[in-house]
Amino acid sequence: MDIATPLSEIKGIPPRFLPKLKKLGIETARDLLWHIPSRYVDFSRVLHISELKAQEEATIHGTVEKARARRTWKRNLYLMEAFIRDESGTIRATWFNQPYIKNILTPGREANFSGKPTLSKDGELYLSNPTYELVSMSETDTKHTARVVPIYPETRGLTSKGIRYLVSILFKQNVPLEEPLPQNILDSEKLPALRDAIRAVHFPDTLDDAAHAKRRFAFEDLFLIQLRNITERAKLNNLKAHSTPPNVELMKELIDQLPFPLTVSQKKSLWEILQGLQEPHPMNRLLQGDVGSGKTIVAALAAMNIAESGLQAAFMAPTEILARQHYQTIKKFFPEFEKGTALLTSSEARIFYGQGMETTTKKPAILRELSAGRIKIIIGTHALIQKNVTIPNLALVVIDEQHRFGVRQRAELLQGKREARVPHLLSMSATPIPRTLSLTIFGDLDLSLINELPKNRKAIITKVVLPTERDSAYHFIREQINEGRQAFVICPRIEQTVKIDGDALELSEFELSRIEMKNVKDEYEKLSKKIFQEFEVGMLHGKLHPKEKEHIMKKFAGGEINVLVATSVVEVGVDVPNATVMMIESAERFGLAQLYQFRGRVGRGEHQSHCLLFTESKSQETKKRLLSIVEAKNGFELAEKDLAIRGPGEFLGEIQTGMPDIAMTALQNPELVKHSRELAIALLRDDPPLKNHPLLKSQLEQFQKSVHLE
Ligand code: ADP
Ligand code: MG
Repeated sequence: MDIATPLSEIKGIPPRFLPKLKKLGIETARDLLWHIPSRYVDFSRVLHISELKAQEEATIHGTVEKARARRTWKRNLYLMEAFIRDESGTIRATWFNQPYIKNILTPGREANFSGKPTLSKDGELYLSNPTYELVSMSETDTKHTARVVPIYPETRGLTSKGIRYLVSILFKQNVPLEEPLPQNILDSEKLPALRDAIRAVHFPDTLDDAAHAKRRFAFEDLFLIQLRNITERAKLNNLKAHSTPPNVELMKELIDQLPFPLTVSQKKSLWEILQGLQEPHPMNRLLQGDVGSGKTIVAALAAMNIAESGLQAAFMAPTEILARQHYQTIKKFFPEFEKGTALLTSSEARIFYGQGMETTTKKPAILRELSAGRIKIIIGTHALIQKNVTIPNLALVVIDEQHRFGVRQRAELLQGKREARVPHLLSMSATPIPRTLSLTIFGDLDLSLINELPKNRKAIITKVVLPTERDSAYHFIREQINEGRQAFVICPRIEQTVKIDGDALELSEFELSRIEMKNVKDEYEKLSKKIFQEFEVGMLHGKLHPKEKEHIMKKFAGGEINVLVATSVVEVGVDVPNATVMMIESAERFGLAQLYQFRGRVGRGEHQSHCLLFTESKSQETKKRLLSIVEAKNGFELAEKDLAIRGPGEFLGEIQTGMPDIAMTALQNPELVKHSRELAIALLRDDPPLKNHPLLKSQLEQFQKSVHLE
């Protein structure tokens, strides 16, 4: 057996865990050993019941006296209660929704109980959801209690307790572990060797022990990211691309005829992009800017530069509506462009030859014109590249609302053209990424930033709404709709994810917190049937079929839907200038940068817009945090703040980076980031093909695959 052995072939791993492990992406021994805890709880203090104090984690050992289970009337939860006694006293313990515990903690049973005692309103000290472990008094070899215990990323039906048990099975099998990091790096960075780190990360003696081990994995991941970035850039420099010099005259002329002046950062970004297009090697650039900051026109100008030189450019958007919007932007702002602009989606095919000459046609005609080079700018959805499209002089690909365009997709664009030149890539994204992250996760990309909004934007009135003000907020929305406006209602979840059905699952902390969150389906029911009966209410979320999503979005854009209840999917959306209310439920659940993005969905038309942040939280801190989006100058500022508050793992939660969590956390340590980069550069300088580091090399290859899967 080695670390690549599938868990299904390892004796002792109960097969019923396999599907759950798979949900966490764990299939091999390696996956499980590298399932790094997100945090630890120190239960190592073993006390008598009489010594327990509120909010101080500890372990007690006692005998179950009485146990009973009942349903609570509030929230319909299943409550299990037990009284535990030791020689110093008795304490009550409660568990929610784990009815099977009744069969385990039967009267007379001896066990350890670890947790953080809570003081009730009546002054009773009790244990809420403690971890238990059936052991005798003298037992010292514990896994879940009376020690520092790891808390892992969990999934439904597989808690940290289960994962600890599975990891301990692997430990007994002594899986051979080879060290991939060079000894000199371990020494200079004072990192524990792999074998020690694996033990300490899962079963640490102390919290320090665990932190030391985690630091090693963090470093290792950062180091791999850096190796990847450096090799990725080197790869691009070995490829050829069309080199197109900036046509300064043309650019000036086109910019002059726009109905607005470009902002300073739009001009700066355009210039950076034009410089990139002049390089003989493919550019890989990310253009970042807030919603509404005007990225499209910048990319369109770059495309004009390419098109006028006789080459071709492709625009790809995540939805058909956005593709159409881009097509219309070009038509509107460059009405005299005669060299052919086409829109190709599954429902539309149009070509525009300037001076109002537009024809509706069919897909084959577009493909023919494209391959003959008579269309210089083609616009479509991301699906454009998957079809058999030949674009002989493709020099620039613009990708909207996608952070990273994988090498795999780039390869698809070049299908069957071995000696061809590789197109330059420009990705556009409204998700602001703080600098530390862009230096690592996106370290293989060049960055251009648009960090200001056009001057003509109206300020949006932003308010935090407390539960007592809910009715008047609905009243306000009703007035807005009666005046002909539209509203968004955003919820953090699609549906109640935790089913209170009493099946044998342990509720994780994570799941418990979800019970309190507003969800799209319930809000949709409530708003459409009760609150806004007289209006058309729509529902939009990620589980809908893409066609269905388009359809709803189209209806909203067309004014047929008055109120749209949605998840964060509207973040990537179209311009609906008539929408003036952005109402966000459980606002505290979202990151600041994300809230800022939601808010950017309104305030695009002539009417005054409003952003209502609903929260049930009573904390002044939360209110203050939410209101910081009022003062923020741009999304980047908030992103930095968010990153500091929530950490990169959660910050990037919605963005598919393909990075392990541990690496994300490591990004908060700038010094580690810097060292990892320096050491990666040094190693690749001495040994570019990593010939002397075969293990590192294969790990890098693995890593590259995982990152490019998006
Ligand atoms: P995003 O960066 O979110 O993709 P868009 O490119 O869709 O933003 O631009 C939003 C709107 O702002 C469009 O209607 C566009 O024409 C307009 N716009 C772009 N640049 C400017 C500018 N410098 N001044 C005024 N309006 C602008
Ligand atoms: Mg856009």
